[in-house]
Amino acid sequence: MRTDMFALRHIGINEDNLPEMLSEINVNSLDQLITETIPDDIRLANPLALDPAMSEHEYLSHIQDLSEQNKVFKSYIGLGYHESITPSVIKRNILENAGWYTAYTPYQAEIAQGRLEALLNFQTVVSELTGMELANASLLDESTAAAEAMAMLFDVRSRDQKKKQVNRFFVSEEILPQTLALLETRSEPLGIELSVGNHENFSYGEEYFGALLQYPGKYGQVHDFGPFVAKAIEKNIKVAVAADILSLAILTPPGEFGADVVVGTTQRFGIPMGYGGPHAAFFATKAEYKRSIPGRIIGITKDTAGKPALRMALQTREQHIKRDKATSNICTAQVLLAVMAGMYAVYHGPKGLKYIANKVHKSAITLTDALEKLGLYQVNTSYFDTITIKAETSKIKPIAEKQGVNFLYVDAETVSIALNEATSLKDLQQIVNIFAEALGQDAVTFEKTVSKTVLDSQLRRNSEFLENTVFNSYHSETELMRYIKKLERKDLALNHSMISLGSCTMKLNAASEMLPLSMARWGNIHPFVPVEQAQGYQTILKDLEKDLSIITGFAATSLQPNSGAQGEFAGLMVIRAYHESRGEGHRNICLIPASAHGTNPASAVMAGMKVVVTKTDDYGNIDVNDLAEKAALHKDNLSALMVTYPSTHGVFESSIKEITKLIHDNGGQVYMDGANMNAQVGLTNPATIGADVCHLNLHKTFAIPHGGGGPGVGPICVAEQLVPFLPGNPVIETGGDNAISAISAAPWGSSLVCLISYGYIKMLGESGLTNSTKTAILNANYIKSRLSGKFNVLYTGERGRAAHEMIIDCRPFKANGIEVGDIAKRLMDYGFHAPTVSFPVAGTLMIEPTESESLAELDRFCNAMLSIREEIDDASLADNNNPLKNAPHTLEMITSDQWEFPYSRQKAAFPLPYILDNKFWPSVRRVDDTYGDRNLVCTCAPIEAYAEA
Ligand SMILES: *Cc1c(COP(=O)(O)O)cnc(C)c1O
Repeated sequence: MRTDMFALRHIGINEDNLPEMLSEINVNSLDQLITETIPDDIRLANPLALDPAMSEHEYLSHIQDLSEQNKVFKSYIGLGYHESITPSVIKRNILENAGWYTAYTPYQAEIAQGRLEALLNFQTVVSELTGMELANASLLDESTAAAEAMAMLFDVRSRDQKKKQVNRFFVSEEILPQTLALLETRSEPLGIELSVGNHENFSYGEEYFGALLQYPGKYGQVHDFGPFVAKAIEKNIKVAVAADILSLAILTPPGEFGADVVVGTTQRFGIPMGYGGPHAAFFATKAEYKRSIPGRIIGITKDTAGKPALRMALQTREQHIKRDKATSNICTAQVLLAVMAGMYAVYHGPKGLKYIANKVHKSAITLTDALEKLGLYQVNTSYFDTITIKAETSKIKPIAEKQGVNFLYVDAETVSIALNEATSLKDLQQIVNIFAEALGQDAVTFEKTVSKTVLDSQLRRNSEFLENTVFNSYHSETELMRYIKKLERKDLALNHSMISLGSCTMKLNAASEMLPLSMARWGNIHPFVPVEQAQGYQTILKDLEKDLSIITGFAATSLQPNSGAQGEFAGLMVIRAYHESRGEGHRNICLIPASAHGTNPASAVMAGMKVVVTKTDDYGNIDVNDLAEKAALHKDNLSALMVTYPSTHGVFESSIKEITKLIHDNGGQVYMDGANMNAQVGLTNPATIGADVCHLNLHKTFAIPHGGGGPGVGPICVAEQLVPFLPGNPVIETGGDNAISAISAAPWGSSLVCLISYGYIKMLGESGLTNSTKTAILNANYIKSRLSGKFNVLYTGERGRAAHEMIIDCRPFKANGIEVGDIAKRLMDYGFHAPTVSFPVAGTLMIEPTESESLAELDRFCNAMLSIREEIDDASLADNNNPLKNAPHTLEMITSDQWEFPYSRQKAAFPLPYILDNKFWPSVRRVDDTYGDRNLVCTCAPIEAYAEA
């Protein structure tokens, strides 16, 4: 046996474990279990035709070699992406730290206080720099955030004035091209009409509900938008501003001139460009929109003891609850990147941010002066970091490229240059030399940057920001390192124990998959460089697309969507374009089973479809009769079925081929939600079950870490007939021949983290991937067997098997006064993160162990569950004073001089022996969700105030 194969490290179960596990499950072989789990008629006939597996060592040298095919130029392209400096202390202690990147979205707040605090910092940075009352905990990218702003303002307005159709949205011509493309994609299905123009000529007509401005403009001009916003407000036109976060350290924040929404990206707060992402976008608005704001918001509340605690606020806004009434489908966002950007502000503080902003600004002025001395004309009258020069592009470009420099070539006579935090005097000199050479002149030399400004007083920021202690305390590396560690210790991540979140697939995110993210040759590449400069990336992205097409059985793949939900939206938009191309644009009915994830109906509505919910039968399967009836009823207008496979009930429905055929017979296309692909890879696939398009969650099945709630990548894979419509990009050519407009800002979405999935596939190869799937199914069925008799599994396949996950029913325990939430909190005392709570069935837990967990860990988890089961039996209905109701137990409770509970301290904190060896202490007691929603506080300024009260 080759012991250097990565599969042995990725898969937690080895040959020696099999006899015990198979006998527990009561099968003779793993293959027998798989045969009893997956219907015969959808099994793949042949192994996946993938490259042979590389060892970890081979992979690391392979990825190093490929990185050398990327040419790292000095990038002055701008357009929302800038070279930035990631402070080493943040890179090493967050980006490269499994304690941060392997955590999940902080639904279990008591064991997530660290990242919740980091996100509260992020929100504070955003709301104070933009001058707005409320900010969310990140969105996918600036362009998506701008589209979300448009959708939110439209929704608020249509709810306001039901009768009157007000559907025009003004877009300044200075908007970034990729943002305009996103607005086109999102506006059309909603019936919004865009008008693009010069804001100075805007009519303020009453057919407009909103407007979007870029601040500074795409080529750097800074406008005084005060008068525009004032007039718009008078006419009941809401204004969104896409702003550069760094510039707001010295420019008047949009909140101060009356903007309703401010969006943008925090990429330049220490996040590598990564050939397009991932980066945390931000969305800030007025408190009056708190119930309409897309994405997650972190808020302050209190725990059982009355102490301040954090948790995700206003959850009722989310698509999980609102479903087809939701206006946004954002689920996974960009938490890890938001944590890093927030920490960048903690590290630099207000003084540091002002210094950086001024430095960049002065570099731009210095450069302008020097270029003007060469006789060149600089167009922008006011600017922050980006200048626009009139010069012959054809002369400049070859010289610049020879020297490894990229500018933005606007047209034949215009060159735009965006400077950044990393731009040195030497770099400025190089730029001047390039222009001088092109003009055949001697270069102007300079020794230091000038100190003056080109900003009029009304454009300059006077207000202070980030005065809170957190932004003024951790400026030495020792202090910041300890602050990061303090927060990390409060969070339970995969480096502590199994996180068996059903549907979320919390598997190993291997170090060898992650290491390349730290390499400059992958990090420091602008998404809009000529593709010849990014050959390393092009090789990887093409190869990954090819491999994902092989795995799904489809014809082509687009990596553009930045999350599963964006994949759903992209896939449905592709289906829409397909119907339109055949003259059947009227097809707009989307059938969705009742058990679907909340993003499904939300995405369908965004794609302009009408949702028709279909029933589930008693066995948790799609009710085929009901589906047939509804498909037939809507056959003239049927657009698509969205189906999750295996189902969200953890079952491979055997009627799936019948279901997909039924849809095709009625003129519809089949969208498969691929969140459960971890049960399929190598054994079956979406093409085989009869689907036409699916999204994959690379952050579930393909090993991208969840990062505490993002980044994600949600590629779509499509059958032949849908290939022409794969999404494009306005700057770099990509997508199908008849591409729909962009789904994400960057042509290949979050390219940097695609390296992780690429590495995952290359190191596992066909047999490693297939064995992973088999082992995921084995581990789920092992847990099912061990819990049987004590916990009832709600649904199984026809032969009694679970797929890669299962739902256990906790509703019977209500008789003992125990709710599913009590079990979730009690698991924390045992050192475990709860499985998925109440999805897709209220009052249940959905357990998905994944292939990466060892037998020892599965046993620890089962022992914890069985011990909790005994505690449930012991819990008396009369008093609510038991270990379940009081969970989680903090160190403070346990060590308090007073102990008022009718069970021992040991029972509370160390109910099983293994816990003594590896105790995780929740940092707060149970959080009060409703209190925080009634008293919404979403920035860190008042936390001390709260503590004093
Ligand atoms: C996770 C998930 C999604 C949404 O994916 P995101 O990446 O969070 O947007 C959709 N459907 C199902 C079944 C999921 O589990």
